[in-house]
Order: sequence, then structure tokens, then C-alpha cells
Amino acid sequence: MTATIIYGNQLAETLRVKMKEEIVNLKRKGIDPKLTVVLIGDHPASKSYVSGKQKAADYIGMDSELIQLPAETTEAELLSLIDQLNQDTVVDGILVQLPLPAHIDEQLVIEAIRPSKDVDGFHPINIGKMMTNQDTFLPCTPYGILTMLKLYDIDIAGKHAVVIGRSNIVGKPIGQLLLNENATVTYCHSKTANMKELVQLADIVIVAVGRARMIDRSYIKKGATVIDVGINRLDDGTLTGDVDFDSVKEQASYLTPVPKGVGPMTITMLLKNTIKAAINHAQK
Ligand code: NDP
Repeated sequence: MTATIIYGNQLAETLRVKMKEEIVNLKRKGIDPKLTVVLIGDHPASKSYVSGKQKAADYIGMDSELIQLPAETTEAELLSLIDQLNQDTVVDGILVQLPLPAHIDEQLVIEAIRPSKDVDGFHPINIGKMMTNQDTFLPCTPYGILTMLKLYDIDIAGKHAVVIGRSNIVGKPIGQLLLNENATVTYCHSKTANMKELVQLADIVIVAVGRARMIDRSYIKKGATVIDVGINRLDDGTLTGDVDFDSVKEQASYLTPVPKGVGPMTITMLLKNTIKAAINHAQK
């Protein structure tokens, strides 16, 4: 048995083409979604993420703006900028690229963004709404994963999902979304004692750790669905996931690659959230 490979880049392309049409239709109705991205400093990975977001917005015809500020920007200056963007009726989505320089309190910044413009879905109000299964902006990576599972008609209800990793941006929220979809969810993390035995029970495995190829086929139940969130750069410069792709593809029924898997879906869901924000703002 060889797994069906879920190419997130292809799904993302299909979704982006649809969004392009949606933007044209919205503009006809006078709704012009706008995303503002704030980048502090010149962290190379952050710069590349931000440019990917800008390109994707351009591709679908979404208005996007990049505000780039020096690494020495103070917390007060950033909070004042966010306040300005909160008030600006033209701006629908605000994304402050993380991580921030150490002298800025990240949580304070996240909480300063108006929840109706929090297209990253990190504000505690939006997280609370996600926990209680209300309509909200879902965090982009988990939202992308859920969308992939649904587009492939992968059963979630009643299945056992094991999530490896418990970060606020990936692990915790994807577990919650799968629970909302009636999966039985187990979280594993660096202190989990019997991780392999737990993962072996899973129908769906989500791996979000950041350790190259840590999960090989010996962890995976035959026929399981395996979603690899990890992005790791090897010494030779190549990118690889947290899953040993060649070994796991012989055991799983569905598997995502790295690159071309979860990553492109993450950016797509950011665009989707921004369109949603614009529609919500227009209705108010
Ligand atoms: P974090 O570093 O915030 O979290 C990593 C998690 O893995 C923690 O919960 C940690 O446990 C757990 N962990 C670490 N070592 C082990 C281990 N040996 N066994 C089990 N669990 C372990 O990472 P993120 O969630 O932000 O990202 C995870 C990966 O996903 C990274 O490679 C990142 O680059 C990638 N990523 C990809 C995205 C995409 O769009 N494709 C988006 C976001 C992230 P503990 O809590 O106990 O420390």
C-alpha cells in the first residue's frame, strides 16, 4: 500500500482561483478586502513568510500593504500603530509577523489587535470562540489542515486523532478543531512518556514539532492519515518535515509532503480570513 499524497499546493491553487473570482464579485459590491502586514526587523525567515503572503494576496487581487519597521521599534510605537490600523476603516485584516524582538511583549501585541481584524486568529477572544465552536477566525495553519482533511473526505468524527506538539499556533488549536469535529483527541509533547504507543493508536496523526523526520513508519498504524506540519532545514539546505516521508508513505493511507503540503494552505487560509473580515465589516 502506498499513501495518497495530499498536495496542499494544488488544493491551495484551486482555492485561490475561487477567491480571485470572489474578490472581483466583492469589488463590484463595493467591498475591497485589505490586509495589512506589519514586520518588525529583518529576520530572514519572517521576511520570506511576509513576502509569500504579499504575493498570494496580489495573486488573488487582494489589496495588501506591508509596513516594515526597524528592529529597535518600541513596544509603545507598535501598539500605537496597531491602534491606528484598528481605527482605519479601509483595513480589514491586521497581521503582525511573529516572532517579535525580545523587548516587545508578544501577547500584549496580539491582544491589542481588534478581534474583528485578527485574521491570524490568535486573539484570546477568537481562541475562546474557537474553543466554544462559534463562528470566528480560525488560526491559519490548523484551519488549513482541517480544510485539507475535508477536501479529501477523510472521516474525522469518531476517529482517534493524536496531535504531536502543543504550541498555541498549531498543536493546541488543531486538536481543538478536530475535537469540534467529534474526533477523540490525544495530545503528545516533549514530556509525554509513552508517545510511540499513543501514536500507534491513531487514525489521524498531526505532527507539529520541528524535528526533522522524527516520525517513521514504526509509529504509524496501517491506513492512518498523517499530516506533517514541520518545516526543517537540513545542513545541505533542503527542507524536510517532521515525518520520514519515504518510510511513512508505505504505511499511511494519506500523507502530506514537505514542502508543498500544509505551508501553502496556511497562507490561503489567511486570505480566506481577510475576505471574511471584509464581508463582516461591510455588514456592520
Ligand atoms: P513550537 O516549537 O512552538 O512547538 C513544538 C512542540 O513540539 C512543543 O509543544 C513541544 O513540546 C513539542 N516537542 C518538542 N520535542 C518533542 C519530542 N521529542 N516529542 C514530542 N513532542 C516534542 O513549534 P510550532 O508549533 O510553532 O511549529 C512546529 C513545526 O511546524 C515547526 O517545524 C514549524 O516550522 C512548523 N510550522 C509550519 C507551519 C506551516 O504553515 N507549514 C506553520 C507553523 C509552524 P513542549 O510543549 O513540551 O515543549
